Amino acid sequence: MEFTRSKALQALPPYLFIEIDKKKKAALAAGVDLVDLGVGDPDKPTPKSLIKALQKASENPAYHQYPFGSGMASYRQAVADWFKKRFGVRLDAATEVVATIGSKEAIGHFPIAFVDPGDVVLCPDPGYPVYAAGARFVGGIPYFMPLLEKNRFLPDFKAIPASVLKKAKVMWLNYPNNPTAATCDLAFFKRAVDFCKKHKIILAHDMAYSEVYEAGQKPPSVLQVPGAKDVAIEFHSLSKTFNMTGWRVGFAVGHPQLVAGLASAKGNLDSGVVSAIQAMGTAALKAPDSLAKSVRSVYKARRAILVGGLKKAGFSVFPSQAAFYVWVKVPRGRTSASFCSLLLDKAGIVATPGNGFGAAGEGYFRLTLTAPEARLRLAVKRLAALRG
Ligand SMILES: *Cc1c(COP(=O)(O)O)cnc(C)c1O
Repeated sequence: MEFTRSKALQALPPYLFIEIDKKKKAALAAGVDLVDLGVGDPDKPTPKSLIKALQKASENPAYHQYPFGSGMASYRQAVADWFKKRFGVRLDAATEVVATIGSKEAIGHFPIAFVDPGDVVLCPDPGYPVYAAGARFVGGIPYFMPLLEKNRFLPDFKAIPASVLKKAKVMWLNYPNNPTAATCDLAFFKRAVDFCKKHKIILAHDMAYSEVYEAGQKPPSVLQVPGAKDVAIEFHSLSKTFNMTGWRVGFAVGHPQLVAGLASAKGNLDSGVVSAIQAMGTAALKAPDSLAKSVRSVYKARRAILVGGLKKAGFSVFPSQAAFYVWVKVPRGRTSASFCSLLLDKAGIVATPGNGFGAAGEGYFRLTLTAPEARLRLAVKRLAALRG
């Protein structure tokens, strides 16, 4: 038998990393010592104290049954307490917080709750592919807002046509940003909140990298804008902050109706976040600042090595101190794809072509800081040889 995939799945853009992935596998099979700076997945283990919390929680029989619902009261309260401490924003744990299975599923499922066929979903380009995929699965139409270097990779709201705005239901933003590593200030969020209120658009902010920044540069939450809760929902994740990508836990916070809508969509699809992992998440959110601080210091040291080496080799790097990505211009005369192929073939470095995140990413490539310093030093040496 042959089975045809749904039109929605077929309509997703071709997976642009396939070419690089094929080359990567071939190089590895040939025994090449590849420096893989392609995938944004923390290489360090989850802190021991959190693993201990999970082990202990796993022995509680109450946690052996369906978790159901929006999350355990203790987890949601820990989220509210953390949010107050980190951003100075008060949240009602009962109505303004929902536990999520990492933030990817929540971002992907959010449109089920609020997007009808034909509704427009505004997505950043370049951007995390899940915003557009989630929209397409429910018949929504992604409209891509180009993020340009001349605008420090912030969208230009004035450039969105009125006809698009009329049909727009959701606007996605993501700062600190993947893939550009750009950040924004509270004044930008204020403009975004005003704009979305004026045009009656849900403002959905993905803040997966809230705690990945260098000292003194704490990224703001959109909910710090007075009145933002009238129009916004923000998606958070413990994955990047605490090296917890493998455990799948996050949360969404904001307007009670947006939180309840997401919880309702999820309630029809999943049965909640594993309780023992919510207990682990609670331990993470209650952990002393030193835990996230030590994660930050690792990326700071790595960034210095990689960015310093890239600059020395003549590359143009977008200056940033947040997220764990380095966003680099491809040399003149090359495309994102052709230069990433060259990097792999001639330098044994895996990079992600910028156009894989959207058309506006063409002309750039992305490197991650999720590899040990020694590997980054090796990459820098090879880059220097390539350009020399
Ligand atoms: C990593 C990432 C996420 C989601 O990570 P989860 O592990 O699903 O919480 C969401 N958005 C962006 C931009 C990311 O890079």
